Amino acid sequence: MFEKILIANRGDIAIRILRACKEMGIRTVAVHSLVDAALMHVKFADESVCIGPNRSSDSYLNMTAILSAAELTHADALHPGVGFLSENEKFASLVSANGVKFIGPKVEHLRMMGDKIMAKKTMADLGIPVIVGSDGEIKSVEDAADIAGASGYPVIFKAKSGGGGKGMKVAGSQEEIANAFEMAKAEAKANFGDGAVYMERYLPNPRHIEIQVIADTYGNVIHLGERDCSIQRNHQKLLEESPSPALSREKREEIGTIVRKAVKKLGYVGVGTLEFLYENGEFFFMEMNTRLQVEHGVSEEMTGIDIVKEQIKIAAGEKLTIKQSDVKFTGHTIEFRINAEHPETFIPSPGEITELHFPGGPGVRVDSHIYRNYTVPPYYDSLVAKIIIHAASREECIAKARCALDELVIEGIHTTADLHKKLIRNGDIVAGGFDINWLGRNLRSI
Ligand code: ADP
Repeated sequence: MFEKILIANRGDIAIRILRACKEMGIRTVAVHSLVDAALMHVKFADESVCIGPNRSSDSYLNMTAILSAAELTHADALHPGVGFLSENEKFASLVSANGVKFIGPKVEHLRMMGDKIMAKKTMADLGIPVIVGSDGEIKSVEDAADIAGASGYPVIFKAKSGGGGKGMKVAGSQEEIANAFEMAKAEAKANFGDGAVYMERYLPNPRHIEIQVIADTYGNVIHLGERDCSIQRNHQKLLEESPSPALSREKREEIGTIVRKAVKKLGYVGVGTLEFLYENGEFFFMEMNTRLQVEHGVSEEMTGIDIVKEQIKIAAGEKLTIKQSDVKFTGHTIEFRINAEHPETFIPSPGEITELHFPGGPGVRVDSHIYRNYTVPPYYDSLVAKIIIHAASREECIAKARCALDELVIEGIHTTADLHKKLIRNGDIVAGGFDINWLGRNLRSI
């Protein structure tokens, strides 16, 4: 097992990883930007290194500074967390080249899944259902019009190197295609430095359902069921639950088995998530996230499996001791993302937290790094807490969630908590009848 892990991240996820390390008896190194010097994970870690100024590009994305921190502290492994450099193949290669174990998948899989066109092709070849669309990059409006004309409208343009819901544009008809194509390309270029886009059929009202997998170096693969992440704002997840109210046990087993087989054939190692759109009983693969996800806690609550510890053990070369038949799903889980954002406009709301009280009690898990008088900086992701509710049934989970959200006090900044309080009392949400566009359609009226 590793002796010392450097955690190349910040916020709640850095604390989550730190806790797993501590419980496993592994020493920890925190890294931080200037403004993050007083963060909890820095205080709790055995050692800490400042890796640069506040801007992410100068600190949490600064590969040289992070590699130097690892060398300086003699860390033998590095956990990249979520976002930042967690899916960056160059960084993973550099970490390995420096004799430090990158806690993540093989570089070839980071590369493959980072290219969304290649990811779709690979998964289709492995028997995973994908959405029909262009075979590869779309080079011209004419090509786009030809393909869309053959497969039918609406279509969506997506960035080959995309992420975070950016660089996607829908064309409802031939008249809209040139504009959508150019806009998607421009947004892709601006956000990812790569203007390449591909196209696929746009599903009008699907659900977003994703499958969590864990795979070891010996070809053992398990899945931890699904997470329904259909409640989204600007194509970004806001609330996640498991099991999905839309999925039967048979459907869960069917997709779980297909995914396990594909991941095994791929030779994938580590934790990962396959994201699907789900409509009329059919799954359509969108992408694979080759890292821990923000919402991993939902599957942990459902199965009792500590995904971060498993991830670390696998990176250290240990065999997965959990068999698929050992994975039991208990009760129901809903996660609420509390973002420092205005609950209606979703405009970031950094600033000082003047009052703070977190809910508690059985079945109420809070993953967060904030504290009273903490100032949410404007430089990073707006997530400040995840409230994860687990109960025996969906009904009980909703009741518990209402109480927990009512107990939550965060003053001084706007947060999405007020929106969640309304959502969890809304008839459609309570009935489980929603799709990825539900929030966009209903935001003004709930
Ligand atoms: P990103 O990596 O940017 O998050 P994804 O491919 O995972 O991009 O898509 C993000 C979200 O965009 C999905 O959860 C869904 O809401 C929407 N989306 C993506 N592709 C389609 C599609 N073909 N039809 C309808 N909605 C889509």
